[in-house]
Amino acid sequence: MLTAYCFGRATRAERETVETHLLECRACWSETQRLLGAIRILETDPSMPGTLTPSDLAHTFGISGRLARAFGGHMMHVLLCSVIYAALYGVAVLVEVAYQFDKYGETGMAMAAVAFVWIFFTTPAGLWADWRLTRQGSSKGWAASAGILLGAAAALFAIVSPYLPSGPVTELNWQAYTAQAAYLKAISYFMILQSIFLLPPFHFVLAMQRELKEGRHRLALGLLTGDKLSVAPRGSVYPRFWVLSMLIFITAGISVFLHHNLMGNLRPSPYMNLFANLVQARLILYFLLATVCLVWYYRMLNELKRECLMAESPRIANRSSERR
Ligand SMILES: [Zn+2]
Repeated sequence: MLTAYCFGRATRAERETVETHLLECRACWSETQRLLGAIRILETDPSMPGTLTPSDLAHTFGISGRLARAFGGHMMHVLLCSVIYAALYGVAVLVEVAYQFDKYGETGMAMAAVAFVWIFFTTPAGLWADWRLTRQGSSKGWAASAGILLGAAAALFAIVSPYLPSGPVTELNWQAYTAQAAYLKAISYFMILQSIFLLPPFHFVLAMQRELKEGRHRLALGLLTGDKLSVAPRGSVYPRFWVLSMLIFITAGISVFLHHNLMGNLRPSPYMNLFANLVQARLILYFLLATVCLVWYYRMLNELKRECLMAESPRIANRSSERR
C-alpha cells in the first residue's frame, strides 16, 4: 500500500493502516521518505518538462525502463540461476559414478567440469535470446529459450554419455539404472525444474516490462490484480505465484519420499557416504534454484505493480494535464 499512500491514492482505511504501521516499522518509514522525496521533486521542480506524462515518469522510476539493459536488467538473477543450474548437471555426473569412484572418478570429474561449463554458458544464451526477441516485440522469446535449453541438455547428454559406464554403478537392493540411463533421468528432472520455475516467470516479467514500456499500464494492472477480462501478453502465460509456491511444496514432498526410499536401499560400500552426500547436494541445488526463481519472481511482480500504480496515479496525472 506504500506506493498508493505516497501518491495519495490510498483510501481512508488504507491510509490509517499505513500510518499506524509507519510508527513501528523502520523499513517502511525509510521507503516512504524516499518515495515522498522523489514525488516532491517531481511536483515542484520547474525544470521538469510540463509534457511529462504519468507513464513517462513510471518508465523513469519503474521496471520497464530497465528492459533495454542486458537481460532486461536481470543480469544478476540470470547469473545466479545459471551457476546453480550448471552445478546441478555437474553434481549429477558425479552421483552416477560415485559408487565406483576409484574406477570412474577421474573421468567423472572431467565430465562434471564439462557439464558445468557447457550449461553455465548455454543457459544465459537461452535467456538472452528470450530477452532480445521479447524486447523487439516478438512473441517467440519463450519458445526460443526453451528450445535452446532443451537443445543444450540433449547435446550435453550426447557428449557425456559415452564416458559414463554403460552398466549399473550404484548398488541398490533392486536393479539400479545404468549410469547413462540414470543421468538421462536426472536431466529430465532438471528440464521439468527449469520449464516451471526458471523460464515462464522470466519470460512473463520481460513481456510485462515491454507492455509497460508501451504504456499499457491499466491493462497490466488488471492482469496482475486478477481482473477476469485481462489477458497475458501474446506468447506468454501469467504463472500465478501461489501455483508456483504450491508446486514447490508438492515437488519437495515427492523428493523427500524418493530420497528416503533411495537411502534406505543402498548397499554398503566404501563410497556410500560420498554417494549420499552428492545426492543430498543435488537435492539442495534443485530446491535452491526453485527458491531463487520464486523469490525473484515475487519481487518483480511487486515492481511491476508498483510501476502500474505510479502510472495510474491521479496526482501526477492531474499535474501534467494542468501544465499542458
Ligand atoms: Zn513495514
